[in-house]
Amino acid sequence: MDKMTGESWVTTTFETLEDWAASNSFWPFPFGTACCAIEFMSTVSSHYDLSRFGSEVVRFSPRQSDVLLVAGTINDKMGPVLKKIYDQMAEPKWVISMGACACSGGFYRSYHVMQGIDEIIPVDVYVPGCPPTPEGLIYGLLQLKEKVTRDRKRFREQDRNQEKTDSVNAGAAV
Ligand code: SF4
Repeated sequence: MDKMTGESWVTTTFETLEDWAASNSFWPFPFGTACCAIEFMSTVSSHYDLSRFGSEVVRFSPRQSDVLLVAGTINDKMGPVLKKIYDQMAEPKWVISMGACACSGGFYRSYHVMQGIDEIIPVDVYVPGCPPTPEGLIYGLLQLKEKVTRDRKRFREQDRNQEKTDSVNAGAAV
């Protein structure tokens, strides 16, 4: 607070602001196939109020989503559909595997059920449980927020190092 003018100021960097926005405005695509999807519905409803964490803007178009939330049993026939939806999402994108079925096939030790969606797509956060509680899913989302911030810093660092290496190599070539 400026004592002379009474105005308030916040100073930050553009990168910090970008990280804050990216990790606090997820637009989830719910790929719900079974009971876990019902649990997801309760998590986005008024009691648990997922909008407190900026993740309530549910979209059913991969082009408008940045978090694929897989909630339910995935059988082998669904595999190509899930993979296609993942591929259609623009970068950057993340995946939450919700519940024992999506994480590992759950109690379906059978030939037609995928034993974990990470057989076909990368997973950022695994939420355990059958079904996971809304609190468990919210905790998973909070973990994803931290991961996104960490990853963005790491990628920026890698870019800077690469730029330095390129300029050193360019200098050496001259
Ligand atoms: S993990 Fe449990 S609750 Fe979730 S889809 Fe599988 S059987 Fe249903």
